[in-house]
Amino acid sequence: QDIRPRIPDVVPARLAPPGPEPVRRSLVSYVLPVYNEEDGITAFHTELTAALGERPELDFELVYVNDGSGDGSLAILKDLAENDERVRVVDFARNFGHQIAITAGLDVARGDAVIVMDTDLQDPPRVSLELVDAWREGAEIVHARRRSRQDTAFKRATAHAYYRVLRSSTDVDIPLDTGDFRLLDRRVADELRKYRERSRFVRGIVASMGYRQTEVAFDRDERFAGETKYPLRKMARLAIDGMTSFSTAPLKMITRLGFVVLALSLLGILYALAMKFFRPDITVSGWTMMMCVVLFLGGTQMLSLGVIGAYVGRIYSEAQGRPLYLVRDVIGGDGER
Ligand code: UDP
Ligand code: MG
Repeated sequence: QDIRPRIPDVVPARLAPPGPEPVRRSLVSYVLPVYNEEDGITAFHTELTAALGERPELDFELVYVNDGSGDGSLAILKDLAENDERVRVVDFARNFGHQIAITAGLDVARGDAVIVMDTDLQDPPRVSLELVDAWREGAEIVHARRRSRQDTAFKRATAHAYYRVLRSSTDVDIPLDTGDFRLLDRRVADELRKYRERSRFVRGIVASMGYRQTEVAFDRDERFAGETKYPLRKMARLAIDGMTSFSTAPLKMITRLGFVVLALSLLGILYALAMKFFRPDITVSGWTMMMCVVLFLGGTQMLSLGVIGAYVGRIYSEAQGRPLYLVRDVIGGDGER
């Protein structure tokens, strides 16, 4: 005979333990740019949703931005949206480029935190959970830093050199070896939306914003399928946008070059004059004057170009109209932002 006390199936209401306070669950958005990824996007989505299953206490929203794909990507994305209510798709009228696709995704995302990542499985979905954990520990911007990467030797070498040159020529503390894979707190995402410049280098803008930033290191995988959507031409454009929007070093270099040329031309002028007075026997008449004019004008032209360039650079950065400062919080008053 079973002597264990009988436990009633239904606990009377007044004995039931008080339930947890109904807290608002955090919503984490993913911004996912897609350009001709028909071969890999399904695998990406499967792997991402599997990873999301490991954080049942959070709500998720997946914003896919179709950047004018010419293949079957859009149909696949529509299918995903139909079968998963967390998915939203922003469809561009044409290919506007990776950086603009990210921007559109950020405009649409509603989460308390927003994660930007590539959809070719080079940024492993599981790593995004580490970004979320860092955010829950108080970080407002979490960069995913590549500890290693599987791209071609050329891409690795140029990226490695570029990030170091960029960093040394700007005041902004742009983190080394990070792409656009990062998490932004809601507050940061809202502020980022105020930056409306056209040629944008999102990773640089984010780094320049301040706030509490941290890094999570990861090993970047190989592309799951298809080819890179960043041919040399687009890579060079992004590199130039990054340089010109965060540094006037190239302009200053023209000025410096002008000074060097001018100093050399003075030496040339002295030499030409000396030849005229001390060795008139081997000096063709008119040569001295010509040399003086050519060298002097060359030097001063270069110098003036640099000075003009410095002003153009200032006008340019004003025309970008970036906010002068960013307010984290407004305390007192009605608290409206
Ligand atoms: N991408 C985009 N528009 C473009 C080029 C790329 O939306 O014009 C997306 C692409 O689908 C991928 C991400 O941006 O999700 C990064 O591109 P890719 O993997 O080709 O760059 P790489 O990793 O080779 O630097
Ligand atoms: Mg890639």
